[in-house]
Amino acid sequence: MQIHSKLPDVGTTIFTVMSGLATEHNAINLGQGFPDFPMDKKLISLVNAAMEKGFNQYVPMQGYMPLREAIAGKIHFLYNTNIDAHTQVTITPGGTYAIYTALTTVLQPGDEVIIFEPAYDSYIPNVEINGAVPVLISLHAPDYSIDWNEVRKKITSKTKMIMLNSPNNPTGAVLREHDIEQLQDIVSGTNIFILSDEVYEHLIFDNILHQSILRYPDLMERSFVCFSFGKVYHCTGWKLGYCVSSAELMKEFRKVHQFNCFSCNSPTQVALAEFLADKESYLSLSSFMQNKKDYFQQLMSQTKFTPLPSYGSYFQLYQYNNISNENDKEFCIRITKEYGVATIPVSAFYKSATDSKTIRFCFAKKKETLEMAVERLIKIK
Ligand code: PMP
Ligand code: GLN
Repeated sequence: MQIHSKLPDVGTTIFTVMSGLATEHNAINLGQGFPDFPMDKKLISLVNAAMEKGFNQYVPMQGYMPLREAIAGKIHFLYNTNIDAHTQVTITPGGTYAIYTALTTVLQPGDEVIIFEPAYDSYIPNVEINGAVPVLISLHAPDYSIDWNEVRKKITSKTKMIMLNSPNNPTGAVLREHDIEQLQDIVSGTNIFILSDEVYEHLIFDNILHQSILRYPDLMERSFVCFSFGKVYHCTGWKLGYCVSSAELMKEFRKVHQFNCFSCNSPTQVALAEFLADKESYLSLSSFMQNKKDYFQQLMSQTKFTPLPSYGSYFQLYQYNNISNENDKEFCIRITKEYGVATIPVSAFYKSATDSKTIRFCFAKKKETLEMAVERLIKIK
């Protein structure tokens, strides 16, 4: 059988490759982004209880209503915006799916989508599989901020969407108020949609305000804002998330969603509907993760790696040009095999070859894991 590939330039994701290599070489995995510490026991009991109570059949296609109501309540509390749980929230099997569905909802062949690189690895393939064209704008180290004048230059009559991700994976960069002002100025009076990937909304450091698109009604009306419970409650394997949009856009989003996933896992939705009432569980996340970041940075100061700033997410970039001339992928593979620590090469977040001698570490790990990993990293020559 012959297959005409829809994604001819794509291989297996770097997260799968590096986690596979970590397992094969029994390495400490600071690559793929997932916590290695336990999640909240109460949330686990709530899922068990939901199953025992018989929540084991389909919930509505849009998501379990009490969960959508709890999400609307949370958005009002955090961002002072009124969201209609009936028409503006859809529960999805993870953030990645929400992003893919939003892109599939609006993109037509030949449309252009502005993507900032480094970009989360699913964005470009998601655009291309819809026959649309990624228009890439490079962010520059060390702060990885957006040059909005460059964005203005890249806008054409075909620009259908701008994709944003704050706090950013892999750089840890975050959008500031002046970025939002520039964005508002650029899209005002146009038909440009916004995809805002906010899966790290609670992982933001030094009391910086998360510039959620949900705070801005003029941007909301043209946006799909995507979230992941996996990142908030340390349960990436649950693959549950949601998308928030205007009622009009959400109607179209649901047309795509209903014939792909239809409805998501019921007991986790029932459990989360109750658990979301506990504000402290998400409000405490920033300082919890900041402590991990600070501890990791302190440990890493004993190595030859040079840190780049991280203002959010659970990732930190480090440069290794004091250590090696190898390209980042070769370097990551070698240190996994020889030193037993897996990381992610930043070139994996670019469409074309780059070599900035920069790699990504995930610090959402137990203290002992970070300590053990750094003990090994100190030895790297
Ligand atoms: N966006 C970004 C930037 C991510 O890092 C991730 C990864 N975890 C996702 C989306 C997707 O999250 P999920 O696992 O819920 O699909
Ligand atoms: N988002 C996670 C990361 O960036 C991984 C998700 C995945 O493996 N697709 O590491």
